[in-house]
Amino acid sequence: MSLGGVPRGGGVSYFADLTPYSYSARFLPPGTTALNVGWLDEHHGFAKRRPSRALMGALAEALDHSTARTRGYSSCPLCWAVGDRSCPVVIELHGRSRALGDAEIWVVGSDGVLLCAPNMIVHYVQSHHYRPPKQFIEALTERRFGSASGGT
Ligand SMILES: [Zn+2]
Repeated sequence: MSLGGVPRGGGVSYFADLTPYSYSARFLPPGTTALNVGWLDEHHGFAKRRPSRALMGALAEALDHSTARTRGYSSCPLCWAVGDRSCPVVIELHGRSRALGDAEIWVVGSDGVLLCAPNMIVHYVQSHHYRPPKQFIEALTERRFGSASGGT
């Protein structure tokens, strides 16, 4: 389909869950295998489930471990598509306001594979009930955070 110059909302890019990660590959420690999680857009469906308190708690903590920080903010393509053009997206989580869309959350799967998500994933889970792949939830729940080489 053609986007024909229509503003896309500054969302980044769509990548299917568990496909090889490339978006900020320059930040990867050498020799790392990395997969995409949570690179949603308004054109592709995704698995849904209302998040547990445990999952939201782990995501809140993960925000303190955001990595691969970028300049500027991307917005939520799902909200953008229905006319909410907030940028940055700011969420309330455990009594704190958090701006999203400027960094990523990386966790290490039990097989050592790095799972890389935009930090917008916290909003996707909270507001759009996106259900991340099982191995991502497991790694997150066990607080196995990864980070970009050379710091953030
Ligand atoms: Zn949204």
